[in-house]
Amino acid sequence: MKIAVAGAGIGGLTVAALLGQDGHDVAVFDQFDSPRPVGSGLVIQPVGQAVLAEIDALDEALKLGNSVYHMLGFEAEAGRPVLNVRYDNDGGPRFGLAIHRASLFTAIWNTVQRQGIALHQSAAVQSAKDGILTLQDGTEHGPFDLIIDAAGVTSPLSPLTSRPLPYGAIWGTVDWPETALPITQLSQCYRRADRMIGALPIGKMPNDAAQKAAIFWSLPRDKYDDWLASGLEKWKAEAVGLWPEFAPFATQITAPSQMTMARYSHGTLRKPYGTGLVHIGDAAHRASPQLGQGARRPDALRQVSQVTCRHLSSDERHFHTAISI
Ligand SMILES: Cc1cc2nc3c(=O)[nH]c(=O)nc-3n(C[C@H](O)[C@H](O)[C@H](O)COP(=O)(O)OP(=O)(O)OC[C@H]3O[C@@H](n4cnc5c(N)ncnc54)[C@H](O)[C@@H]3O)c2cc1C
Repeated sequence: MKIAVAGAGIGGLTVAALLGQDGHDVAVFDQFDSPRPVGSGLVIQPVGQAVLAEIDALDEALKLGNSVYHMLGFEAEAGRPVLNVRYDNDGGPRFGLAIHRASLFTAIWNTVQRQGIALHQSAAVQSAKDGILTLQDGTEHGPFDLIIDAAGVTSPLSPLTSRPLPYGAIWGTVDWPETALPITQLSQCYRRADRMIGALPIGKMPNDAAQKAAIFWSLPRDKYDDWLASGLEKWKAEAVGLWPEFAPFATQITAPSQMTMARYSHGTLRKPYGTGLVHIGDAAHRASPQLGQGARRPDALRQVSQVTCRHLSSDERHFHTAISI
């Protein structure tokens, strides 16, 4: 089949690789001028790791990323553990793959390139109808047997309206410092429900041998300007006051631009497909990253891609069944 994928993020590139492996003629369209990921680190759960293995991207992702076996979050004042989860209580092999987005992107992107899949850059998609993909500059591509919408949270192809969540977070990437915190653990500190600080050891970035950490600090979605206005030193003092172990991470932040504000929303498309069109990833379902499950969804893509290609144009119900699975 001739297939267009709108969006070259985690979901779009992964589904392109899976469909390319199945012998389909795939073209990917993204608005960016050159391939690049946005953001800091994330955790790929075991199901997501299985998909990376299937597209031959896991080895590279493992070399760059870092294995996390334990997630520990505790109250700042009482020191009481609130989140205390091990991937395998009896020392088994499962772990979360903590990785910088740039590293994950590199691993998946290299797979896509090895397969010779066409990528159209500076190609901001506007609409999809009857197998024709129309870009914002008015050019039309197609016809395609199938268009996959993987354009993320702001996809113009997705009818999803989602509910903004009251809290977001500022995120940054720093070197993993000299610290007593285990490098195999996601560590978080909370003050009631209104403050959360985290440090996630995410391994290396492409072309940089240093071990990195993704750090985050939760903020109400409309308080970013206030955070900027109150100054870095006040923020660092508050964070280190709550969690002294955060000090060697915080000292590496010397400019507000090192921290990026991310706002979240919740929502799920009840019917994530139309005739010849499928919505995947954040275009189909949005959730808070605190659940750590956003990027794992490509695990469903194997079944989706197979069933879609066999049946979608002729019978949408089969695809619906695949989604349910
Ligand atoms: C701060 C933060 C932390 C997170 N942590 C985790 C975690 O620990 N674990 C986890 O599993 N998930 C996490 N997530 C969620 C995860 O990042 C998303 O679920 C995942 O990136 C969704 O992939 P996607 O391919 O659907 O969209 P994206 O990765 O957002 O990719 C969308 C792509 O579409 C392109 N695009 C957008 N509009 C257009 C257009 N009009 N035309 C063409 N191209 C377009 C964009 O340039 C981009 O390349 C986190 C998210 C955030 C914000």
